[in-house]
Amino acid sequence: MSQPISPLSRRKFLVTASVIATTSVLLKGCVGNPPSDKSASVSSTPTAAAGSGVKAGAEPEVKTIKLGYTPIVEAAPLIIASVKGFFAKHGMTDVKIDKQANWGAARDNVKIGSAGGGIDGGQWQMPMPYLMTEGIITDGTKVPMYILCQLNTQGNGIAIANKHKGKNVGLKPDPKYFAELKAGGTRFKAAYTFPKANQEIWIRYWLAASGIDPDSEVELLTVPAAQTVADMKRGAMDAFSTGDPWPYRIVADDIGFISALTAELWEAHPEEYLAVRQDWAEKYPNATKAVLKAVMEAQQWCDNFDNRKELVKILSQREYFGVPEAVLEAPMMGKYNLGERVVDDKQKAVLYWKDKKGSVSYPYQSHDLWFLTESYRWKFLDKAQYDATKALISKVNREDIWKQCAQELGISAGDIPTDKSRGIEEFFDGVKFDPANPDAYLSGLKIKRV
Ligand code: CA
Repeated sequence: MSQPISPLSRRKFLVTASVIATTSVLLKGCVGNPPSDKSASVSSTPTAAAGSGVKAGAEPEVKTIKLGYTPIVEAAPLIIASVKGFFAKHGMTDVKIDKQANWGAARDNVKIGSAGGGIDGGQWQMPMPYLMTEGIITDGTKVPMYILCQLNTQGNGIAIANKHKGKNVGLKPDPKYFAELKAGGTRFKAAYTFPKANQEIWIRYWLAASGIDPDSEVELLTVPAAQTVADMKRGAMDAFSTGDPWPYRIVADDIGFISALTAELWEAHPEEYLAVRQDWAEKYPNATKAVLKAVMEAQQWCDNFDNRKELVKILSQREYFGVPEAVLEAPMMGKYNLGERVVDDKQKAVLYWKDKKGSVSYPYQSHDLWFLTESYRWKFLDKAQYDATKALISKVNREDIWKQCAQELGISAGDIPTDKSRGIEEFFDGVKFDPANPDAYLSGLKIKRV
């Protein structure tokens, strides 16, 4: 079934004179579902000649950057920008994308920077860029970051071990069942890939929405994404929350089922982000824009469902995710066998460029505020830290650079948000978050630590 793929090292630096005209048109227009690229089953063709996206006078100051990623679908735009030649197109001919052992390693690597053998930036859960900027997760050392774009929405889920099948541990789990487990001395154990960020936030939101207090009714623990399947198999945990393909793989391997897709908890929700060290971006402003433009074009490529088979082929390779194509293909196409039910909806799949609410790539500052507010809700941040990080939003979130890049890429005006806030958000339990009044959101919540 799978066609042989040429070694990446050759492909990565392959420069071809033939620019696929349809592709470049498609990237400028960024229409919802562009026509099928029939030549798309082989992944060795760069989308454009190296340097063809560089304008005179705007040449990047350096041609290299080291970006970290985690092997989940969120990383696709970084991998595709490298493999399909988008970085090279914008003059970044020597970008190194570096798989991180876990989120803690990514944090430690960005703290030392590429000069120290680490990374200059990459893929982050929220609100990690703020926690690093403020020194909260970097032992007090401030590592100022710039958020350049959101990498994706959706594509995450909460997987539950098979032994809880038929016990009402679905989208709205039954609090009585959790209380019974606790009374019996086997408190429900829920894991995530890094504490106090997206995955813990999703699992807490999911539980609390049904009246289950995540601090008293369950036990929470951290497990690296790549270890989750093995750990659930040996019974080390009852649930975990992470990016595809890991939740889906639980079902494919008949270890468990999926209680909720994050797309069901909050449609078109903010997920993971591209952020780089502020000192790198300040030193190399043209290179920063080149990196961002390449990622934005890769996002448009990834968002086209006609490219998803090829995307799966690339991501599944050993050097990236190292998983069978089949476990990646189904969720990439929005086909989720959740074990207890089936979802078949492309709009519930991971999306990279556009979703029902508009731009995926544009980093809305209102979403950063929600992550910080949710962090305060659970007392991940104390009041002083909440206030300090909130005050950083306009410094850390560089939506202005995104807009410049969008204009220079010829993205149509209708696809460039004009407001830094996406407005009022509504979650699956009917709770609303008004970015203009986060205190009202906090006071309306039933389960919280503040
Ligand atoms: Ca995620």
